[in-house]
Amino acid sequence: MSAALVQALRDRLGAAQVLTEGDLSAWELDWRRRWRGRALAVARPGSTAEVAAVVQACAAFGVAIVPQGGNTGLVGGGVPSADGSQVLLSLQRLNRVRRIDAANLTMTVDAGCVLQTVQQAAAEHDLLFPLSLAAEGSCTIGGNLATNAGGTQVLRWGNARDLCLGLEVVTAQGDVWDGLSGLRKDNTGYDLRDLFIGSEGTLGIISRSPPPAPPPWPPARRWTTASRCWRARSPAWVRA
Ligand SMILES: Cc1cc2nc3c(=O)[nH]c(=O)nc-3n(C[C@H](O)[C@H](O)[C@H](O)COP(=O)(O)OP(=O)(O)OC[C@H]3O[C@@H](n4cnc5c(N)ncnc54)[C@H](O)[C@@H]3O)c2cc1C
Repeated sequence: MSAALVQALRDRLGAAQVLTEGDLSAWELDWRRRWRGRALAVARPGSTAEVAAVVQACAAFGVAIVPQGGNTGLVGGGVPSADGSQVLLSLQRLNRVRRIDAANLTMTVDAGCVLQTVQQAAAEHDLLFPLSLAAEGSCTIGGNLATNAGGTQVLRWGNARDLCLGLEVVTAQGDVWDGLSGLRKDNTGYDLRDLFIGSEGTLGIISRSPPPAPPPWPPARRWTTASRCWRARSPAWVRA
């Protein structure tokens, strides 16, 4: 059965993106080297459609999936079990900054974007993406949202949840849920976004997200305008 699943994954992603041999420790070994798992295969989709294809194939074979971003989580949540029964789905190839909307103070990024890349992309547009933690050169925005990461600025700007306006998620059935709203005053329906944030990959795979990018810290000359702008848009900031 596992050989048939590996072949099905290779049919969907191409042989080069489904790894079963060689040194897979980058995906199978925890950052602190406390947990070592063994994956049935490491699948590296390059698009949301390919993530959905992997999930559908695994669901058809009844095989569990462990999503992984930068593998910097410290609790082993992104490491597969040691029995070789699970497929590790790496989001690393979904790494594009899709859109920056300076007027709306939002950006839309793929889940596998490294946090530092997101920060730099915002800065290039004179904006600030305030989530910051020691793993920012390796961790991904999808992992940050899946763990609802806090970081060094959490008291001022909130957790990752407070910095996210919407999500695109591949559900456990392999459907794509498009919740990529950039609308701040969105009071429609159930808040599925909040359900997925912090669920550590147990409910679905985050494939894209538009985190809001507030204006930068001083130069002081600019600060008055910037703070007013952000203050008007974020009650969380006013509370902090
Ligand atoms: C040096 C260091 C400092 C840290 N500092 C902080 C800190 O200050 N505050 C804090 O909150 N955390 C901190 N962390 C832990 C932090 O949660 C992670 O570093 C980061 O948020 C995880 O991102 P990642 O891409 O590496 O996720 P991974 O480690 O790859 O995965 C983490 C979990 O999320 C799941 N997951 C990953 N990507 C997705 C996805 N796209 N969709 C669904 N599920 C997914 C995985 O299955 C796993 O359960 C730190 C870690 C390190 C190593």
